[in-house]
Amino acid sequence: MTRKGWCPGALRPMPAGDGLLLRIRPHGSRFDPGQVAGLAGISEIFGNGQIDLGSRATLQLRGVREDALSEVQHRLGELELLDADPRLEARRNIMVTPFWKVGDGTQAITRELEAALRKAPELPPKFGFAIDTGERPALQAASADIRIERAGGDLLLRIDGMALGERVGRETVIARALEVLDWFSGTGHRRMAQAVAAGSDPPLHADATPDTQAPLEEILRSGPFLFAPFGAATSEALSELAGQALRLTPWRAVLPEGTVHSELWRTDPDDPLLRVSACTGAPGCASASVETRGLARQLAPHVPAGRHLHVSGCAKGCAHPAAASVTLTGRDGCFDLIPDGPAGGEPLLRRLTTENLPDVIRGHLGS
Ligand code: SF4
Repeated sequence: MTRKGWCPGALRPMPAGDGLLLRIRPHGSRFDPGQVAGLAGISEIFGNGQIDLGSRATLQLRGVREDALSEVQHRLGELELLDADPRLEARRNIMVTPFWKVGDGTQAITRELEAALRKAPELPPKFGFAIDTGERPALQAASADIRIERAGGDLLLRIDGMALGERVGRETVIARALEVLDWFSGTGHRRMAQAVAAGSDPPLHADATPDTQAPLEEILRSGPFLFAPFGAATSEALSELAGQALRLTPWRAVLPEGTVHSELWRTDPDDPLLRVSACTGAPGCASASVETRGLARQLAPHVPAGRHLHVSGCAKGCAHPAAASVTLTGRDGCFDLIPDGPAGGEPLLRRLTTENLPDVIRGHLGS
């Protein structure tokens, strides 16, 4: 078991206000139909039926009972969702584009990277990889430190904080990624962008531009995605998809590989609820002094298309680590307002109460 505040995993669950939280990292950002059914069952029997979709294409089982932990881990092992040890699990932060196709090499690159990471140097907890080698780029705004992308017909190796990358061959891409990892581990930084910003000089011939990504709104309209506002799904909603393989995404959405008629998932990418992020907040998280999701639902109709509102229980900003058009950060029972910034950013307004927030939000978002 890990202390609160560490990155949780299936082998190192995190105590939360509603029981243990187990973060499951699917291989290749994909669950096969048996894994989908198995996870729904585990959540129903041993958890509280609440399931989170994470911003790094992970799935979190909530409310798992401590006395059921060993049985849950046993079942996850049978589903091939348990790593050999917590150290290997922690470094397997690999996000894969949902737009890969059979034969395009994406899954093979992922397997090679997973194998190579077993021998890689120690990595900071949040260090991650994005394999964005589908027919169009999709993960450029998602959190990752090392990216494998495409530039025209070539593979590209790029690190966070740099606009350009190095063209690499299919046979050398993983070896080059490991060389960059070796270099990074000697910088003493926790994230790649920090190392670049500090002036460290990575061992990359960065002279090629990655393919240009379409706006996220367009990406979300391009597939039959199933959305869970706030990333909050349930065992019942997952059971509804049990006959499907699912591709996970960083957008609080899953992409089923087959046709689905769902009652329990949202299917409209223009749903205003998808323009707001909110963490568990109070009372589920002990770090929060404010309720978050009810407020976010109330404010969602005031958020215009193309803008994003983040309601965070505290400055940690779990639900949306990046900047949002407006972030409301809970503090001592009230909210600070941060325009165009993350939850820990510099507030423009302080000590706002829920009564005056709709007017304030309308003013700041131009709705
Ligand atoms: S951001 Fe929300 S979920 Fe994360 S620690 Fe703060 S209150 Fe808890």
